[in-house]
Amino acid sequence: MLIVQKYGGSSLGSAGHLLNVARKVKAAVDQGYQVVVVVSAMGDSTDALVGLAGQMSTVPSARELDQLLSTGETQSSALMAMALEQMGVPAKSFSGRLAGIVTTYDYGKARIEQVDPKELRKALAVGLTPVIAGFQGVTQSGDVSTLGRGGSDLTAIAVANALGADRCEIYSDVAGVFTADPRIVPSASPLDILSYDEMLELASQGAQVLQTQAVEFAKGQQVPIYARSTFSDEPGTVIAESDSMEKPAVTAVALNRHIAKLGLIGVPDAPGVAALLFGELAEQGVNVELIIQAVSHNQLNDIAFTIEEQDVNKAEPVVTECLKKMGGQSLVIDTEVAKVSAIGSGMLGRPGVAARVFQALASGGVNIQMIGTSEIKISCIIARADAEKALAAIHDAFGLGASEEMLEE
Ligand code: ASP
Ligand code: MG
Repeated sequence: MLIVQKYGGSSLGSAGHLLNVARKVKAAVDQGYQVVVVVSAMGDSTDALVGLAGQMSTVPSARELDQLLSTGETQSSALMAMALEQMGVPAKSFSGRLAGIVTTYDYGKARIEQVDPKELRKALAVGLTPVIAGFQGVTQSGDVSTLGRGGSDLTAIAVANALGADRCEIYSDVAGVFTADPRIVPSASPLDILSYDEMLELASQGAQVLQTQAVEFAKGQQVPIYARSTFSDEPGTVIAESDSMEKPAVTAVALNRHIAKLGLIGVPDAPGVAALLFGELAEQGVNVELIIQAVSHNQLNDIAFTIEEQDVNKAEPVVTECLKKMGGQSLVIDTEVAKVSAIGSGMLGRPGVAARVFQALASGGVNIQMIGTSEIKISCIIARADAEKALAAIHDAFGLGASEEMLEE
């Protein structure tokens, strides 16, 4: 049985942490598994490198930045191989290049084009445990590239797929994916299983368990992911294709506090207005999420939409300019809002789920400002001051909390 195990930066924060991980790898090897290890950079060292680059140049070259950032993972892979050897586990570190990971030229967010695992297979065949530097690959011309922040997840999944591994385990400092952020909802419980689409929705809501591109890749290749904690033996969460018929309507709830609501009041009810506004925003690279256009009255419309809070400064002049062009009345910007979402592939074809979400918010006295839905998600924009209360209310209404006895255990 071949297992790929990926360890994130928080599991590798110090020499002691590295040794702890090496012991875990050794335990798996001693049990008779073939293990391929993928490591992130130690602790926050990638951030530290980004900071250093910023002191050299206001706009560092993307190629040089990748050359630099890839060194974090190079370090931890060599250190891990040394630790394993010392523990009597023959090991060999691999750069992205040696692991056969070929990517596009989009430095900083390169996509994997191909994985040729022949060197990995050779090492495995002679009983070596490969330790791959995550996050890095190489372009066709041999330049080092990186796979976007959190990209070691993608390395692990792509390698597991190329090797036809039996399992791909992603270790971090949390025991998998929870029904809600446990820091906000103390009764949140770990999920046994989650579909790729649910995980993608959660990730886009800000749950930072797995890199989004990695989940997309896993979905495309149908690689099941086992998200587990380095620091406990809990089983964690499996992310895989799952049968929505047998699932609860809502699997998890998520909160995004970092959004803003923009409203254009009194714009002409005429063709081309929305096209102009959202075309200009797209051109500026502003991501728009929920959009509401109310029923028009007196040939005038109100259009409201949400964006990421960090984009407000970029969006404001664009929207002001559009409003002038279309002869609209005024612009309101509200940065005191938040988005709560209920996510679950079990809501497919099951009526009444949205009503239960709204009922939960009503019982908590939370006013809903905007509503958006997708096939497996219901989102509400609410006042930011109500965010925690709203999240807990929906979590409770769908019975997602661990029972009292479970909490006491
Ligand atoms: N070290 C990189 C980062 O911090 C990649 C990773 O951790 O997966 O984003
Ligand atoms: Mg990291």
